[in-house]
Amino acid sequence: MATPVRVQSEKVRYMKEHIEAKYEYQTTRVERELDGSLVAIPETTTYTFQTHRKVPKLGVMLVGWGGNNGSTVTATVLANKLGMTWKTKEGTQSANYYGSITHAATVCLGTSCEGEVYVPLRDILPMVHANDIVFDGWDISSMNLADAMERARVLDYGLQQQLRPYMECLKPRQSIYFPDFIAANQEERADNVLTGTKQELLDKIRSDIRNFKNSSGVEKVIVLWTANTERFCDVRPGLNDTAANLLDSIKRGEEEVSQSTLFAVASILEGVTYINGSPQNTFVPGCVELAGQRNVFIAGDDFKSGQTKFKSVLTDFLVGAGIKPTSIVSYNHLGNNDGMNLSAPQTFRSKEISKSNVVDDMVESNALLYKKGEKPDHCVVIKYVPYVGDSKRAMDEYTSEIMMGGRNTIVVHNTCEDSLLASPLILDLVILAELCERIKFKVGNEVEFHSFNSVLSILSYMLKAPLVPAGTPIVNALFRQRACIENVLRACIGLAPINHMLLEYKAE
Ligand code: NAD
Repeated sequence: MATPVRVQSEKVRYMKEHIEAKYEYQTTRVERELDGSLVAIPETTTYTFQTHRKVPKLGVMLVGWGGNNGSTVTATVLANKLGMTWKTKEGTQSANYYGSITHAATVCLGTSCEGEVYVPLRDILPMVHANDIVFDGWDISSMNLADAMERARVLDYGLQQQLRPYMECLKPRQSIYFPDFIAANQEERADNVLTGTKQELLDKIRSDIRNFKNSSGVEKVIVLWTANTERFCDVRPGLNDTAANLLDSIKRGEEEVSQSTLFAVASILEGVTYINGSPQNTFVPGCVELAGQRNVFIAGDDFKSGQTKFKSVLTDFLVGAGIKPTSIVSYNHLGNNDGMNLSAPQTFRSKEISKSNVVDDMVESNALLYKKGEKPDHCVVIKYVPYVGDSKRAMDEYTSEIMMGGRNTIVVHNTCEDSLLASPLILDLVILAELCERIKFKVGNEVEFHSFNSVLSILSYMLKAPLVPAGTPIVNALFRQRACIENVLRACIGLAPINHMLLEYKAE
């Protein structure tokens, strides 16, 4: 099997089934002396990575398949696969995957006599191509995917007309609908809902996953939630604090088990990775424990597509430059169905929570600027304005203290076509999650290979409020998140992380 990038090193072996690489992971342990001084101790740990080379046929089941994101990502993959072009008032447009780090971004592999050599990120290791993904999914709205695409008002009409024959036959499966968890204004589209006890609903979703796998011929399935934002559910001892209690609560039909938690539990019990693209607390402690017990990946929460992505770059720049952001105020208005659902206070609250902690790690990293516990004022407002449709407006004001008591105010106006930013993230999330399922490693002299922690924090780059394993630092800074992906992939083929030193060019 040819790989676009091949490493020549005694530490890397390309075998029929695997790529195996020995990797020296260098870290710095820090100890604080009694007098308060710090001692930094360089440490090296040897990892052996083993990556399965065979790329499976991947099936992706979307919860909320008929929504703006669900219909847009499905249409985009079809349009790319079929090489579609269409006329717009600016000229002829062809299908692409802009916004996807796996399909439209490059990484520096190294240097040659001609300078730095960049390759597509997806060439580092064997990965699923987006064109080969088979979609399926659930929606509480029965609309077929062609009509759903039209309802979304995201893609140009000329493209929609070409796609219609391929999408008319795609119909979402009936879904679980607990009206109390999303806004009341969603009720009128709910004409495709399952009935039964919570246990019966769980079993039905499990059988849907099996049925899709068997009937479509895909070798692997990933489930991703891109349905409406739910309100947060209660987390209580006895209800959902442990895996056993959560499963019992489902059996008893406890009201506070949300529809998204049922989907997550169904996926985990089927051994299928589950990704949460919305802000709600699907991953209650019992759900996280269940994923750990079953060695199944979970990742979330909430796509990081527009405003937050920018925020996690700008705040990183400011704090990294020694400038002190003191107030960050974010307004959004949007007119799509997501915006309508978020106009209810309880679902807005979920979004507000997921947007609120995104600068914490950067602020906490700089004790020269911020006292312990001090944070910038951070306010998020979201309003529903139907006219703007999917073209979300995000306006942010960053006020910072600069030298000698000066003030700096940066105002950003961001018009982002929401679903066209979220769809490539959906692709990256499932493609990288699938790759992670094929990566195993051992540390030092360990005999057995094992997988990444079931809470797949490597996907944080695509997520607004990254879920991480207990005790792990949460990183929101965008370029640190991207470097994590890039360097973990490099480690799997025995290459040192990109360090940006370019020492080879710095000699006399
Ligand atoms: P949308 O409202 O267009 O689509 C959601 C779909 O989910 C709808 O078709 C709805 O009928 C369906 N649905 C609702 N409850 C369901 C259930 N229980 N089971 C199955 N289907 C159900 O919204 P969207 O713009 O596609 O966004 C989807 C989600 O992604 C939202 O929660 C949103 O907050 C989140 N998100 C989007 C972006 C972005 O688009 N840029 C960024 C971050 C997060």
